[in-house]
Amino acid sequence: MLEDRERFSQTLASWFKHEGRQDLPWRTTRDPYAILVSEVMLQQTQVVTVLSRGYYTNWLEKFPDVATLAAAKEEEVLKMWEGLGYYSRARNLQKAAQAVIENHDGIFPTSPEEVRALPGVGRYTAGAVCCFALGLPEPIVDANVARVLARLMDFHQPVDSTSGIKQLWEWATECVPETDSYHYNSGLMELGQRICKPKAPDCGICPVKNWCTCDSPEKLPIKKERRKTIHRDEHSLYAVSEGKILLHREPERRRQGLWRLPERTSNEIAGLPLAAKMKYSITHYRVTLHVYEITGAKAREDEAWHSLESLASLPMPSPYRRALETVQESFLLQP
Ligand code: SF4
Repeated sequence: MLEDRERFSQTLASWFKHEGRQDLPWRTTRDPYAILVSEVMLQQTQVVTVLSRGYYTNWLEKFPDVATLAAAKEEEVLKMWEGLGYYSRARNLQKAAQAVIENHDGIFPTSPEEVRALPGVGRYTAGAVCCFALGLPEPIVDANVARVLARLMDFHQPVDSTSGIKQLWEWATECVPETDSYHYNSGLMELGQRICKPKAPDCGICPVKNWCTCDSPEKLPIKKERRKTIHRDEHSLYAVSEGKILLHREPERRRQGLWRLPERTSNEIAGLPLAAKMKYSITHYRVTLHVYEITGAKAREDEAWHSLESLASLPMPSPYRRALETVQESFLLQP
């Protein structure tokens, strides 16, 4: 364990107070709902993306509190999340808001156990909400914190293994101070984002370099072997008739409730003109999306015709939105 933990946490908290980014919108609020939204958004999306496209501020304008979110239509919720991916996060946020209304009379819970019991809220998110909104001395371990702790401790086990995760949480718990956990945890996260970066960490300007025990930080953290990338082709239709477009509503968990271009087998699209081709990634899949123009298509199960005017308001995964834009632009350019 780190020597003189108290001075370590004070040093990090003090560094954050003087050097940390205080202007981020989720750092100017102590509203637990707003903090929860930011934490869930930032789970698989970079700060710069969340900020540059206004996802966080737009979400809070549309759903300023748990009551508004709890009562919203699922399609509205998914639409506001469009482009962020991992749509179960949006659905879980709404379920969490509904649980606050139903189980806590609309008042956000204030104990770590109750926060943790909300749908979609794991140990990290509960710790972040309790620390950043409620000021509780709760530990947090996200990817940035895991990297910083692994390097500080010169930890040579996979940080994503069961024993590695357990060890990191133990260290995080031992280090979090009873007072001012807000600045300490914020400092730990920001250190990982700005100084103790995955590649080429700036050890020379690191505020806690005196505590760091590793010689080769670039080699840490160690991670389990990644799943192999699988390449696949996807054949979809661009079917427009009488001002309407045929779309498929995803019934499956990952994109459930979102609309996309209807998929067909390679045999079914044989001979159809190719209207667009593009690549996208989802988890460990690298997909080449082929879009074919077709006339006289018939709607199948989970498919429906929508007016072209309504297209912009329907929730749609980004790859299909981009594919549609490409197809429509190419039609506009045709002589
Ligand atoms: S000294 Fe370098 S490796 Fe160690 S915590 Fe600081 S930035 Fe990371």
